[in-house]
Amino acid sequence: MRIVMLGAPGSGKGTQAQRLQQDHQLPQVSTGDLLRRAVADKTPLGLKAKATMDAGELVSDEIVLGMIKERLAKPDAKRGFILDGFPRNLAQADSLNAVLAELGQKIDTAVLMDVDFEILMKRLTGRRTCSKTGQVLNIYFSAPAELEACKKAGGELVQRDDDNETTIRNRLQVYERQTAPLIDYYQKRSLLKTVEATGDVNDVYARFKKAVGLK
Ligand code: AMP
Repeated sequence: MRIVMLGAPGSGKGTQAQRLQQDHQLPQVSTGDLLRRAVADKTPLGLKAKATMDAGELVSDEIVLGMIKERLAKPDAKRGFILDGFPRNLAQADSLNAVLAELGQKIDTAVLMDVDFEILMKRLTGRRTCSKTGQVLNIYFSAPAELEACKKAGGELVQRDDDNETTIRNRLQVYERQTAPLIDYYQKRSLLKTVEATGDVNDVYARFKKAVGLK
């Protein structure tokens, strides 16, 4: 099964993709995660991408396409994958089709995670990662006990470099301008499913699984 996750930053693509990865052994392929790892490892690619990411702009198609090709060629992606954060514009979507055609594959479903703007802002400005456990939390939505547990484990609540308010606004604008046209793109190809992505995370997961045809 090959799934593309669509949705604004903060719409919960990563959270839901991770869960599906665990339950169905489908690798979550997140270009944002791959890029953040390259930045942390200070690879030449990471050093090149950092300023663009901090500004909330898109990294060049060439860079992300190279990463995607390498990742999708790995054995664990043969059975399928969940693309999270790629494609991000029409050119990337066309390139993805070409890469998959070479492998004799195609996308089965594009899932749009639908969330209101106000909720997106809170999710993004409040998002923190526990430095010890790696758990993603939110200062507005997580239970106080969960936030406390990170500190008790000896961790700190760290904010992503691109989760500050100025960058967030830009990321949302970039999404509207460059990524939202993909909704139409996949709709026209009869691949689009829309998931109401607010409310309890377990309910969203149930709707998400139904959208991709899983129990
Ligand atoms: P994300 O974690 O998906 O929100 O991605 C974080 C940042 O990485 C984005 O704001 C972009 O700067 C960059 N990025 C991630 N995926 C892509 C992509 N497919 N194309 C271009 N830039 C990307």
